[in-house]
Amino acid sequence: MGRRPSLGLAPAAAAAAAVLLLIAAAAPAARAQEETEDEHEFSYDPRDAHGPARWGAIKAEWANCSAGRMQSPIDLSHERVTLARALGYLDHAYRAAAASIVNRGHDIMVRFRGDAGSLVINGTAYRLRQLHWHTPTEHTVGGRRYDMELHLVHESAAGKAAVVGVLYEVGAAPDPFLRAMEPAVRRIADRRDREEDVGVVDPRRARGRASVYYRYMGSLTTPPCTEGVIWTVVKRVGAGHLAAGQPPRHCSFLQTVTVRS
Ligand SMILES: [Zn+2]
Repeated sequence: MGRRPSLGLAPAAAAAAAVLLLIAAAAPAARAQEETEDEHEFSYDPRDAHGPARWGAIKAEWANCSAGRMQSPIDLSHERVTLARALGYLDHAYRAAAASIVNRGHDIMVRFRGDAGSLVINGTAYRLRQLHWHTPTEHTVGGRRYDMELHLVHESAAGKAAVVGVLYEVGAAPDPFLRAMEPAVRRIADRRDREEDVGVVDPRRARGRASVYYRYMGSLTTPPCTEGVIWTVVKRVGAGHLAAGQPPRHCSFLQTVTVRS
């Protein structure tokens, strides 16, 4: 999902930003709340005829992208958002599972083929299907955009989606999950539309610690922009970097992804 990837930004911003565009959002089968996999039909470039502002006009099925009332992303200070500080708000039971990595062009996605566990919200289980990254963040907090946003995309048995977003600030501590995934991302960075096996991936390494949870009802951030998606956004500051002490523009992992976008 990604209304905000950085194509069309100034080079300097893009270098720091476009980063993890390679990790994106497909999903196993065609279901109601599935993001489209056909990225040739839309663009992230605001100057493009198929740019985000026009997604809703490209296809009738994508009308929500323009006309929807519960679209994501949003600023998390919005009145639609509830805030919880209590741990346990995120009731998830993840496990390591076989996965593959896919370069969708605008981002890279880790798709779980095995059972990666699930998230329970109001008594409904949402199974973890895939995860991907955006840079900079899609959600903002009080107008501020952070360096990176991880999306963990879940789906219920009824085909409803729940997404956990993790906001990262580039900081001193290297992120173990990113570090673990780096070789696979590098391999696939210039191999658009390819999918390759990455063995077993443990999503528990991605969630990290968080102090604040934001919850609201929103949408997919990629066409068809389907609404009714339960968003839980976690702010996790200071853990988004691969190597300590480097500013984002010097992060080679991020640059790898940026160059290809
Ligand atoms: Zn996304």
